[in-house]
Amino acid sequence: MNIKAQTQISLDTEVRFLKGVGPQRAQKLAQLGVHTVGDLLEYYPRDHEFRPPLTLINELVPDHRVTVAGQILSLRYSGRSRPPRFQLKLEDPTGCCELIWFHGGYLRDSLRPGDRLAAWGKVSQYKEAYQLVNPRWQKIQEIEELGQGDQAGIAIYPASGELSSSDIGRIIQGSLDQMLEMVPQRYDEEFCRERKLPSRRQGLEWIHRPPDQDKIGQARRRLAYDELFLMELGIGLRREKIQTLQQAYALEINERLDERIRQRFPFDLTEDQNKVINEICTDMARSVPMNRLLQGDVGSGKTVVALYAALLAVGHHRQVAIMAPTEILAEQHFQSIEQYLHHSRVKRVLIKGGLTGKKRTEITEQISQGLIDIVVGTQALLQQDVGFKNLALVVIDEQHKFGVRQRMTIRGKDVAPHYLVMTATPIPRTLAMTVFGDLDVSTIEHSPPGRRKIITYQYPPEKITPAYEFIRSRLQAQEQVYFVYPRVEEQEQEETIPGLEEQALGENNQSWMPGNVPARVDPIKAATAEYENLQRNIFPEFRVGLLHGQMKRDEKQQIMEKFRSGKIQILVATVVIEVGVDVPNATVMVIEHAERFGLAQLHQMRGRIGRGDKQSYCLLFAQAGTETGKQRLEIMTQTDNGFRIAEEDLRIRGPGEFFGTAQHGLPELKIADLIRDTDLLRMAQRDAFALAGDDPDLVQPRHQVLLQELQKQFGDDLGLIEVG
Ligand code: ADP
Ligand code: MG
Repeated sequence: MNIKAQTQISLDTEVRFLKGVGPQRAQKLAQLGVHTVGDLLEYYPRDHEFRPPLTLINELVPDHRVTVAGQILSLRYSGRSRPPRFQLKLEDPTGCCELIWFHGGYLRDSLRPGDRLAAWGKVSQYKEAYQLVNPRWQKIQEIEELGQGDQAGIAIYPASGELSSSDIGRIIQGSLDQMLEMVPQRYDEEFCRERKLPSRRQGLEWIHRPPDQDKIGQARRRLAYDELFLMELGIGLRREKIQTLQQAYALEINERLDERIRQRFPFDLTEDQNKVINEICTDMARSVPMNRLLQGDVGSGKTVVALYAALLAVGHHRQVAIMAPTEILAEQHFQSIEQYLHHSRVKRVLIKGGLTGKKRTEITEQISQGLIDIVVGTQALLQQDVGFKNLALVVIDEQHKFGVRQRMTIRGKDVAPHYLVMTATPIPRTLAMTVFGDLDVSTIEHSPPGRRKIITYQYPPEKITPAYEFIRSRLQAQEQVYFVYPRVEEQEQEETIPGLEEQALGENNQSWMPGNVPARVDPIKAATAEYENLQRNIFPEFRVGLLHGQMKRDEKQQIMEKFRSGKIQILVATVVIEVGVDVPNATVMVIEHAERFGLAQLHQMRGRIGRGDKQSYCLLFAQAGTETGKQRLEIMTQTDNGFRIAEEDLRIRGPGEFFGTAQHGLPELKIADLIRDTDLLRMAQRDAFALAGDDPDLVQPRHQVLLQELQKQFGDDLGLIEVG
């Protein structure tokens, strides 16, 4: 019995039941992410090729691009010529021409005398004869199949080692009409007409089989819109759900409270800080949980804003949790909060990993009784076993990550807390409002006054000596210098620097120079060697200190104190974030191995200088790295605007990597491009949010197709299933 005949094919059917596919090919398709018929239909071409006009052989003109069609007269393979070549004579009613493929041995099995063939490429002349060299080709049944002036394009698919673009093309073309039949309508016709979008079915047909160039653009637009619409619908529904289902404490600000909070700060808040505080206060006054992203560069004054929000909650006798990605950062937050809360009655604790046993139980009990107002710790620690009595606000410092989904997992009572997420990696303006549509965004654009632009230079290894002389001049002017060996980002760790063997970095190895560190050397070892080199050989007249992650706490603090008080002029550090506290007199930051770090990270590190009133300099010591490495350093020297840097970062890395798609729960986009399709994205968001507001549970019959698509894409993530 024939299984295929039996199976009722739908878009969810496994692709192996399709005509011309079978189990083996299905396996190869699976490697390309194609499992179902629907996947195949959404396996979009990466490009299209258009055949040049069909031309009779006696009308060929050298250097023109043409298509010739005819019958193969003879074939020849010269395996010994250099390079080996495969050639054939093609005849049409007007004459004969030659087709040549260098290295064309693979064609021996595909072509036979008598086959009818269309071939296209540029005409060249060899002696008296016309030739097409390395033309593209297709077998044809009848010349008429081509048609005079045929403008149809050929889809080029991303291929794999096992399936070529034309294999994939044949599979898709073989069932295209059948597949298109099954594509349901997503929106009504008027909706599409107003937005000048062809139907989805039409779009899919044109992307795989464009009748002319113009249709590809229309098809792309429609299919990209569909992807963006679904993504935004997911976001919009989640937003609706949060807003309608969850209750939060409504915490209103009043003049007295505002005054009391502001007294805590030894400065006037900037215009930007006041603006975002207003936005936050408006949110927190409502009984719907705030869901706000606060973005601003390092040092732009976010912590102050977050503390304002915290004190607003505390003023209402509610509790606040402040969560950081690492313990060091949690500690830093705690310290900077301490600085403002000196002599205040606000009860605050820092929860650390080392805190165990009775002491910990005591503190968690106090928290659950509501005796502690502000709790600072890492995400992990606060989620473990800490139950709050009346948690009203959660502040999350994401640094340069966007783990937005984690928000929902903190142990909540019946009342949901307001959320304030801080990030020092600004999200490119064009994306903030759209991709993060379920977050409201507040932005601090201008840092507190008194900050100067940081000047950034790049030094290849051979220019290091003049760089040292420049540094010496700053030191002689009583300024201070950081040398940073940042931790290598995991993804970059595999990149090795060619031609460098792991070398001994022993104490006496004086030939060692910065920038020569082999990729695999541990940063602590490298920093230690650099510290010794700087102290002994380069800057013997100044005092150099070393700070690294494995040193004891007190040791670290001592070193930091010496640097702050100026007893040490040069600080060599492995992880700059540990340097933490402001040292306004430090005006130079040298970043070693700058080529190996991401833009966001470089930008963060640079934010540690430029804190005083003197001109600061960032010196990037770099070896020739990868092309993208070069681009990053170039951008660093051009701008210190965090938004521009974020945009460039996005451009270089692409949205998937930039956001960490998996972590963020964004669907993979097959055809839409978040950078290029901004207008479509806006339109899709507006439409999707309107729909989400109108039918938040997607119960209307006309929305069932969308509901199914959403469930396919997001699964349970949306919580739609329990709602519906
Ligand atoms: P962020 O958290 O964005 O990195 P912070 O809130 O830690 O920034 O502020 C950075 C530095 O600027 C701190 O030393 C802080 O005391 C100072 N600062 C913040 N707001 C102001 C202001 N309005 N005027 C003057 N200095 C400020
Ligand atoms: Mg800060």
